[in-house]
Amino acid sequence: MEIKVNLATKLKEKPTDESKLAFGELFTDHMLLIDYDTNRGWHNARIEAYGYLRLDPAAACLHYGQEIFEGLKAYSGKDGGIYLFRAVDNFKRLNHSARRVCMPELDVDLAMEALKKLILVDREWIPKSRGTSLYIRPTMIATEAFLSVHPASNYLFYIIIGPVGSYYREGLNPVKIYVEDKYVRAAAGGTGDTKTAGNYANSLLAAEEAKKKGFTQVLWLDGCEKRWVEEVGTMNMFFVIDDEIITAPLTGSILGGITRDSVIRIVRHWGLNMKERLVSIDEVVAAATSGRLKEAFGTGTAAVISPVGHITYKDKDYVIAGGKMGELSQKLYDEIVAIQYAEKPDPYGWREKIG
Ligand SMILES: *Cc1c(COP(=O)(O)O)cnc(C)c1O
Repeated sequence: MEIKVNLATKLKEKPTDESKLAFGELFTDHMLLIDYDTNRGWHNARIEAYGYLRLDPAAACLHYGQEIFEGLKAYSGKDGGIYLFRAVDNFKRLNHSARRVCMPELDVDLAMEALKKLILVDREWIPKSRGTSLYIRPTMIATEAFLSVHPASNYLFYIIIGPVGSYYREGLNPVKIYVEDKYVRAAAGGTGDTKTAGNYANSLLAAEEAKKKGFTQVLWLDGCEKRWVEEVGTMNMFFVIDDEIITAPLTGSILGGITRDSVIRIVRHWGLNMKERLVSIDEVVAAATSGRLKEAFGTGTAAVISPVGHITYKDKDYVIAGGKMGELSQKLYDEIVAIQYAEKPDPYGWREKIG
């Protein structure tokens, strides 16, 4: 499919101070769009000026949540090149999400070609300093106008991109997390393993209440027994107990993070003891009490590695790694970031130079 390019006639002002970049507030001059209907399939791929979408107020995405998205980044490498990190895996996951909420899959090669073209059109927007990046938000919405509950026939896929600052702009502060034992994020058989809008609306209240109590994130337990650790905020969760590195298995209610998978593969490559297994909150607090819990950290594209310094469960606070970043957390952060910014060889084949 040909991707038409219709350049914007008026360009926006680009940010001048990269140290002031925040997350998800600025968008570039262009966006990529592809339409879908059941007769024609995906068609009309185009890059045009970033701007408002026109949607019928009855569009299905606005009522019944047929919306899915992805989150990934492009990096300005040490050699001045532009790099993607495991982007193909993001589009495969988009299709996994699509299947779960009855939306059409998108050809991964087409998505990759479209993404690269869009980034190159707006390449001047990619910030250069280490830690900064170009955030990429592929999104798919149901656009057909109707109010009965069934899968739509018309969809729009689009990609918006924008410069984002370093997550650790103000230095690396391990987070305080609150073990959520009232609300649940996802249950087995639900949509927890997809990036679909409703999961995030569902998680907001717990996060707000935790913030009011002085916590950065909530630690989600399973929806059935409220016993098994699932995720932290919108990140996957890892614990180091003695010399065992543990993360929850992908049982269906957990999002299969690409950073999670990268961490698993790196620590296995390093010959460490990595286990994907159920871990209960009781095991975690017992290990914290006896001093066997060495480290805890979240993983996700935004932060890469987010160390956890405190966990509060049923009004008791447990300090982890003295409230500081642990040794393994730091080593993993350094390794992944060095691969992303092309500062060292990439033995895993994750990095792709696109310009
Ligand atoms: C996106 C996301 C993650 C992290 O996935 P990455 O691919 O590592 O960025 C983890 N949990 C949830 C709920 C998410 O939405």
